[in-house]
Amino acid sequence: TAALSIKNLHKVYDNKFEALKGISLEVQPGDFYAVLGPNGAGKSTTIGIISSLVRKTSGHIKVFEHDIDKNFSAAKQELGIVPQEFNFSQFEKVRDIVLQQAGYYGLPRAKAAERADKYLKRLGLWDKRDTPARMLSGGMKRRLMIARALVHEPRILILDEPTAGVDIELRRSMWDFLKEINAQGTTIILTTHYLEEAESLCRNVAIIDRGEIVQNTSMRELLTRL
Ligand code: ADP
Ligand code: ADP
Repeated sequence: TAALSIKNLHKVYDNKFEALKGISLEVQPGDFYAVLGPNGAGKSTTIGIISSLVRKTSGHIKVFEHDIDKNFSAAKQELGIVPQEFNFSQFEKVRDIVLQQAGYYGLPRAKAAERADKYLKRLGLWDKRDTPARMLSGGMKRRLMIARALVHEPRILILDEPTAGVDIELRRSMWDFLKEINAQGTTIILTTHYLEEAESLCRNVAIIDRGEIVQNTSMRELLTRL
């Protein structure tokens, strides 16, 4: 079974604008997969639909064997999603934000604490655990989003433009962290508009433009064509 399978996905906004024109793709377990495309291509819309924040117009999505329409709660357990916008409460403390997410996924309290602490440490946020989120730098907020997405240890991590607006040094440390998580078995899918980011991280790539997949190939193959 594929980790993620998308078939003929359409999205029409406001009954008039067709943001996704029937995209299909498959991501295998363990892959590091890029959805690469310019602004407005439909990347965030696709992720929004997978995470059920955006309603699809038509199409089918499976996460491992779970159809997201029929078995959303099972699919949800497999997914960690890092949206582009910071969507945590700015007034909550860092550790509490991660703990809250763990509770949302049904982790018992002791397990939640253990996991929260593990990911706060791995992402360099341990010293900030009691700091309200609003006091964090942009890069720290980005890392908080990743810690929060990993707390239930999903088999698939999906990140929407994870390094947009992040400086080069932090970008490299985030890349190293993602490589590490992938090497430990997590399937990673990220959207990006930087070819360089896809090139340094990903094994396979779908290029999306104006709601359509225009290429779907291995990164190595893509680089020989450019
Ligand atoms: P990307 O993430 O690749 O930049 P998006 O998925 O955000 O692309 O957007 C795809 C297209 O859909 C764009 O033309 C965008 O303007 C449009 N769009 C996105 N969200 C909405 C919305 N809520 N209502 C109407 N149009 C939208
Ligand atoms: P800014 O947003 O101002 O760039 P950051 O919060 O991104 O600041 O980074 C603060 C410091 O934490 C930087 O020195 C950065 O290199 C370091 N850092 C970034 N990622 C990690 C990580 N995964 N683990 C440990 N330290 C990190």
